[in-house]
Amino acid sequence: MKEVRVRYAPSPTGLLHIGNARTALFNYLFARHHGGKFIIRIEDTDVARNVEGGVESQLKYLDWLGIDWDEGPDIGGPFGPYFQLERLDLYREYAQKLIDMGLAYHEYREGSDEPGIRMRVPKDRTFKFKDMVRGELSFDSNEVEDWILVKDNGIPTYNFAVVIDDHFMEITHVMRGEEHITNTPKQVMLYEAFGWDVPVFGHMTLIVNEEKKKLSKRDVTVMQFISQYAELGYLPEAMLNFITLLGWSPSGEEEILSKDEIISLFDETRLSKAPSMFDKDKLTYINSRHIKSMDPVVFMEFCRPFLEEANIEIKNDEWLKDLTDLFHDRMSYGAEIVKLYQEFFKDDFEIGEEELNFLKEANSKELIIKFREEIENIEFNPEEIQELIKRVGKEVGAKGRFLFMPIRIATTGQMHGPSLPHAIYLLEKDKISRRLEHAISLL
Ligand code: GLU
Repeated sequence: MKEVRVRYAPSPTGLLHIGNARTALFNYLFARHHGGKFIIRIEDTDVARNVEGGVESQLKYLDWLGIDWDEGPDIGGPFGPYFQLERLDLYREYAQKLIDMGLAYHEYREGSDEPGIRMRVPKDRTFKFKDMVRGELSFDSNEVEDWILVKDNGIPTYNFAVVIDDHFMEITHVMRGEEHITNTPKQVMLYEAFGWDVPVFGHMTLIVNEEKKKLSKRDVTVMQFISQYAELGYLPEAMLNFITLLGWSPSGEEEILSKDEIISLFDETRLSKAPSMFDKDKLTYINSRHIKSMDPVVFMEFCRPFLEEANIEIKNDEWLKDLTDLFHDRMSYGAEIVKLYQEFFKDDFEIGEEELNFLKEANSKELIIKFREEIENIEFNPEEIQELIKRVGKEVGAKGRFLFMPIRIATTGQMHGPSLPHAIYLLEKDKISRRLEHAISLL
């Protein structure tokens, strides 16, 4: 097989969207799986829609996701330039060749001195191509009108430029969104006109929302830009994992996968033919799984900027590590640490009805009073706190659920939560004493 060469060809019209990220990722995975090259080409011919910084932000978030490229606008490469606006001469030359072959013609628009160039679509032909997702597809040429190759301002249309570039960049496979299927016959007719090899196409199915409607950038119920997830503390490896599952599935059961695992498992015959649903809960779950497997020190550093951003005072590294250890298993994204911190340390400590009932039914008053008294006399650290809980339990004859739960409720207000001795330690003695007194006053 020829060396695989695939490309991601964004228009720099905005932030990296989940759909584009998927296109980039599938091409990337295909290239890496087959030991081929992954190229980025900037399709900037729709000048009015280009935005300042559009290229940089695309590249920044691809890089963030862990996608790297072999040739592209920032690093160049042997098939450059990688901006279409820098390749106008090439398009002009090949448009002229089509005119010379009688396959295209000049056309003057009213009010314009320069001609545009239009493709003359042959009659009664069938354009066929192989699609990795849908098999062989064919289109009747009589359904395609003569179409514009180069506008009167000298700028090529997408369908023309894409073929010239894919050919000269020696692209072997083109994976892209299914909205491009109806463009493909136009592209195939150009390959045939020039006598060039047609790449293998693969059109990925739509991404739909939970109501099964096509995900639209205007849909505010779903965050759709990679930068938004990055800002909230989703992990790049989790996003990459999740996006991989939008229209592809591994042959085995396990869906939580690292990038290297995905690269080695990637198999283009398993691309889905059905629309893929953007399932927010699944993304949350995948992110929490990747968070759980983070090294605790790495996790602590991951949480730090979110706390800083919220102006939460980080006493020292040890304190921060205790805090993040406490919540590590319960978090599904980084920014959540702020909410958890605030709930945990809040000053207006209240005990809810259900929790209070538990304390009453369990007859916990004596236990809590004892614990309140004794806590003054220990060295305040998690080990001593753990010992104290057990000792006080023995003294008043409270065990298991009737020992830990009342103390948890009286100190944190919650029935569930992180390791109790650590939680008490982190809340510090003053706050714990005040909370215990409040609990006692309610009993
Ligand atoms: N610039 C096109 C887009 O962003 C590329 C389509 C293609 O891959 O051919 O949709």
